[in-house]
Amino acid sequence: MKFAFFKGEIVPFEKATISIMTHAFNYGTGCFEGIRGYWNEDQKQMYIVKLKEHYDRLIKSAKTLKIKISYSVPELVKLTCDLVRQNGYQQDVYIRPLAYKSESKIGLGLHNLEDDFAIFLAPFGEYLDISNGIKVCLSKYRRIASHSMPQGAKLTGTYFNSSLAKAEALDRGYVEAITLSHKGNVSEGSAENIFMVKKGVIITPPLSDDLLPGITRLAVMELARKELGLKVIEKSFKPAALFKADELFFTGTGVQISPITQVEKTKIGKGVGPIAKQLQELYFRAVRGENPKYKKWLTPVF
Ligand code: PMP
Repeated sequence: MKFAFFKGEIVPFEKATISIMTHAFNYGTGCFEGIRGYWNEDQKQMYIVKLKEHYDRLIKSAKTLKIKISYSVPELVKLTCDLVRQNGYQQDVYIRPLAYKSESKIGLGLHNLEDDFAIFLAPFGEYLDISNGIKVCLSKYRRIASHSMPQGAKLTGTYFNSSLAKAEALDRGYVEAITLSHKGNVSEGSAENIFMVKKGVIITPPLSDDLLPGITRLAVMELARKELGLKVIEKSFKPAALFKADELFFTGTGVQISPITQVEKTKIGKGVGPIAKQLQELYFRAVRGENPKYKKWLTPVF
């Protein structure tokens, strides 16, 4: 966290500060992305994963807040690479762009408010135990439905719901939580999408089950179909199905591919399952720039 992009320029991280009166701080009127950069030591290269896709989603999220980001996607890509380069980390990083209502003003609404765009980054390793799998609870909190908050947008305000689910998991001695949609279908984790393997078929809930359209979700679907020749379907399912799954795993930029080995008191499969393991191997080779076939997912920084 040496440098950030703030108010149109790269500045020392400590200078990137906002007022306590900032609209987004008071009312949650911001949106953001979480992006990973993977350091490849042999190639002395940093690869940013699906950078364009993340900025496409950010621009969509920003639209729901009536924020127009004043940079094009290619400009955002360049800006991000410049900032990562200037920070100089030779390790994996997590990149956080934000677009938010920056005006110091009391009062709700989205019209006639100044907005701003910022980026910071930090070194970032494993977020969950992806080798041994994690135990998760079923959250009492439901995901916010698209008729309450726009679907598909990664909005700061929505993350109070995610934080409640995560906190509930930790309070109860679990690592993560699975949340349900407003209709009672399995939706996703607190900040990750969910996949279930049943009789060799991979099933994941459809976007209509109140989930964030994950970029890793699509990447994993592509790997499962193209590299493992598996059938992947989007289909709603109820929580009871979780307990009978052969394998369960989360996907997300932060969690990468995290096998779930226990839901509430029930063990799933026999530890980390073979499909999750194969997908992890494929995914990590791809994001570290070791598989030429998937170099198209990556933006090299150097
Ligand atoms: N759902 C939620 C609520 C999230 O916060 C995230 C992380 N951004 C995901 C799913 C996974 O999305 P992605 O694969 O794009 O990181």
